[in-house]
Amino acid sequence: MNDFSTQLTHWYDLHKRNLPWRITNNPYAIWLSEIILQQTRVDQGLAYFERFLAEWPDVFSLANASEQEVLRMWQGLGYYSRARNMLHTAKDIVFRYNGEFPSDYHTLLSLKGIGPYTAAAISSICFNEACPVIDGNVIRVLSRIFGVTEAVDSAIGKKRIEELAFLLMDNQEPGTYNQAIMEFGALQCVPSSPDCEKCIFKDRCYANQAQAVKLLPLKEKKTKVTLRYFNYLVLSWEAGGRYKTIIRKRLRDDIWKGLFEFPLVETHEETDFERLQHLPDFVKLAGTTRFHLIKQSVTRKHILSHQKIFARFYHLHFDGPLDLVDENNISLISQNELQSYPLPRLIDRYLQEIDGNL
Ligand code: SF4
Repeated sequence: MNDFSTQLTHWYDLHKRNLPWRITNNPYAIWLSEIILQQTRVDQGLAYFERFLAEWPDVFSLANASEQEVLRMWQGLGYYSRARNMLHTAKDIVFRYNGEFPSDYHTLLSLKGIGPYTAAAISSICFNEACPVIDGNVIRVLSRIFGVTEAVDSAIGKKRIEELAFLLMDNQEPGTYNQAIMEFGALQCVPSSPDCEKCIFKDRCYANQAQAVKLLPLKEKKTKVTLRYFNYLVLSWEAGGRYKTIIRKRLRDDIWKGLFEFPLVETHEETDFERLQHLPDFVKLAGTTRFHLIKQSVTRKHILSHQKIFARFYHLHFDGPLDLVDENNISLISQNELQSYPLPRLIDRYLQEIDGNL
């Protein structure tokens, strides 16, 4: 064990949070926690982890779930491809590996939704393989302490981080070491304003000594953010004494694939109802049935990592049923059934705000 990993694991013993995936080395539970925690804060992910394990305690039960059930359980976590891939991999493990998780890094890496980071986490924590995890936390810690001044998203910067990660790894207890460095990044060496005065590495940390904490890690590429304008049509009409509405499953390779939403007219810029109702997509949806605009929401901003969505909801009441209910991705439902479908958070939040009153 080198000096760095000794100090780090000692710090971890004293400061680690009590989390349910820390008391197991069951690969199913570790895999679940790692997938949930990608792009998700621990406090938010914790409840999901517990709900998933309670509903599907092993890979066999998860493999038997439907996509709709899994997406519904995942609702609110974002990056829904993680949930779809998870279900795919659960089936793969049951059918190709008789329910046994592969134990080595390279086989794990061949499974859908398992990238280098997750493969390293599972193989080290569950099977003691000396594979360092490299995620945002680890990159930040290593670049600051060891002064990686190349951009960490450049080829040379990535190589330096990888070399350091392998060099510093504790080969005796790789799982503990990996958890320790991630926890150190999450609790101590946080992205902005870390408390360097209280840090065990303050005397040897390059960034602290060179007053470069704010500058590291350095990145050369800025994330490009696309602006999108969503006009949701909340359509309703009365049939047999009940109010009906329409939701559609998103089928394209785009955000929220597999989730349900109100019929959508996407525009290139913000528009108003006067213009919207003459657009071909709207006319196609509304057909010839007479409608009244009951209410419309203000523009709501929904921010994803690469997209900023400006959404409006238009509530339209129709005098009779619409013609398009035969399209195969459309579901005609009663309004009170909405909550049993997996919905994007944007829509779920809106429904909560209006208390389900369509
Ligand atoms: S001294 Fe500051 S920048 Fe350096 S490792 Fe500690 S918390 Fe991070």
